Amino acid sequence: MALDTSFGCAINQRAGIPLLQWAAWLRAGILHGITTREGGVSQPPWDTLNLSADVGDDPAAVRINRIKLAAALGDMKRPVVFANQVHGARVARIDAPPGASFEADGLITDNRDLFIAVLVADCVPILFLDAAKLVVGVAHAGWRGLAEDVPGAVVRAMRDEYGSIPSDIQAAVGPHIGPCCYTVGPEVADIFRDIPRAVKEDDPLRLDLGRIAKRRLADAGLLPENVQISSPCTACFSDAYFSHRNQNPTGRFAAVIGIGEPWDA
Ligand SMILES: [Zn+2]
Repeated sequence: MALDTSFGCAINQRAGIPLLQWAAWLRAGILHGITTREGGVSQPPWDTLNLSADVGDDPAAVRINRIKLAAALGDMKRPVVFANQVHGARVARIDAPPGASFEADGLITDNRDLFIAVLVADCVPILFLDAAKLVVGVAHAGWRGLAEDVPGAVVRAMRDEYGSIPSDIQAAVGPHIGPCCYTVGPEVADIFRDIPRAVKEDDPLRLDLGRIAKRRLADAGLLPENVQISSPCTACFSDAYFSHRNQNPTGRFAAVIGIGEPWDA
């Protein structure tokens, strides 16, 4: 399947929910998006589209928000599979909706009857697509996940499980906390000092998670032109995105992806 090399992304209104989506992926039939705070039913401080059942929000509101998400993605009947995220680098291959909760920070699938998703509020969400093999992936990467290389683990899992060639894989890095707002201690900064410009040597130190994610993806074999970063800082724009650093408790927004029918087949 041919994909445009133009990687333009836009926020599209889908069934009352704004979704950050990439045009080339939509044309290829990839149902996907990154949510914002808008379009849900949760009350403050989870207002309004909180998709996490683990942050103190009313479970009924979360259920409604998740149904609204599936509708916005274009297939209400498909389950959205979430993992228990533990800031590690374990990647789970999802062949069917899981019967029980499981721990992972990366998910991959070639199943057309489900969506896979991660939840974030400052951490880096990454969507993956191998349009040649029709395999998709998603990762949740904070500094711990980047230290353990969860982005590279997803790429290697796509290769090992489905035969994906890393240079065929495209990645979309979604909104996360920027170096403008992400201060860390020296023990965290030291982990990433080998990556150029990952650490801003101010007082206090600041970390550029998006730059680190991009480096991890390049090291895993992705081509620079196949990695797109859309990165309004979640803490600067906490009216649009949930930010754990800016507000606690708060909700979680989602990066979600599934395989559909191509528009241009
Ligand atoms: Zn910021």
